[in-house]
Amino acid sequence: MLPRKPLLAALALTLLGGTAQAAEEVVVYSSRIDELIKPVFDAYTAKTGVKIKFITDKEAPLMQRIKAEGDNGVADLLLTVDAGNLWQAEQMGILQPIKSETIDQNIPPQYRASSHDWTGLSLRARTIIYSTERVKPEELSTYEALADKQWEGRLCLRTAKKVYNQSLTATLIETHGEAKTEQIVKGWVNNLSTDVFSDDNAVIQAIEAGQCDVGVVNTYYYGRLHKQNPELPVKIFWPNQGDRGVHVNLSGIGLTRHAPHPEAAKKLVEWMTGEEAQKLFADINQEFPANPKVKPSDEVAAWGSFKADSIPVEIAGKRQAEAIRLMDRAGWN
Ligand code: FE
Repeated sequence: MLPRKPLLAALALTLLGGTAQAAEEVVVYSSRIDELIKPVFDAYTAKTGVKIKFITDKEAPLMQRIKAEGDNGVADLLLTVDAGNLWQAEQMGILQPIKSETIDQNIPPQYRASSHDWTGLSLRARTIIYSTERVKPEELSTYEALADKQWEGRLCLRTAKKVYNQSLTATLIETHGEAKTEQIVKGWVNNLSTDVFSDDNAVIQAIEAGQCDVGVVNTYYYGRLHKQNPELPVKIFWPNQGDRGVHVNLSGIGLTRHAPHPEAAKKLVEWMTGEEAQKLFADINQEFPANPKVKPSDEVAAWGSFKADSIPVEIAGKRQAEAIRLMDRAGWN
């Protein structure tokens, strides 16, 4: 027995030395605000010892930076929102596929790129909201019906320049074709009560202020304002429950083509799709976990369950250019 001990000790030292030498790190370029991601990365570092450096900026400059850095790239991962943006990154050739059974098991295929270049991490619905003072939920039904005469001068929308609306329109084109979608979008534009807004919060606040009665926003914006003011006279409505379901989009992550630490980055992404991280990541921003095994927070669950459109979200990217042209023709600024 005795002679084995030094051997084991030597082995342990070697292993420790090896681990210390390889002190892993992962570099993430992120377009999400720091508060939404730092707790998740901190939890990973506490668990694994792997350091995570992240640089925050808007998605367009981050993507340009990854492209410009080329094979001298320092970023391992690009973290951003909206399948439209992730698809753009894919088209720029700045991502590479992650082949992982763990990710494939954790995230449903409609929330991942078919190329495996990116995967969704959290989900948000882009849904209808309404004034509880001036609208009865029975009056609402579908996104399409917001084009009806009934809503003339009563609708508020965010600008067509925002990718969220481009993605919504892209999925409408996929469902209805261009001609019908153009009719619908023209109907929305005709029904606007005022100029488009630069963000979703302003849409909610305009309904609160009586400037309009209905609007379309991402659920977490509603969640934030509702948290600040539980008496907010605005509620969420889940449209298209009799047909394809509510438009859902995501935040997601992709491995960069020239990632310096691809293996460590892959492990981080696998962990981020797992139960512990999913809970943390989704709850911080009142989003839905992309992993269906993980339940949303009580706050989010209180909005009620709904049928989500099962369309693969990458359609938002594939039809983005068409959507932008169509919105422009329809006069959506
Ligand atoms: Fe947002």
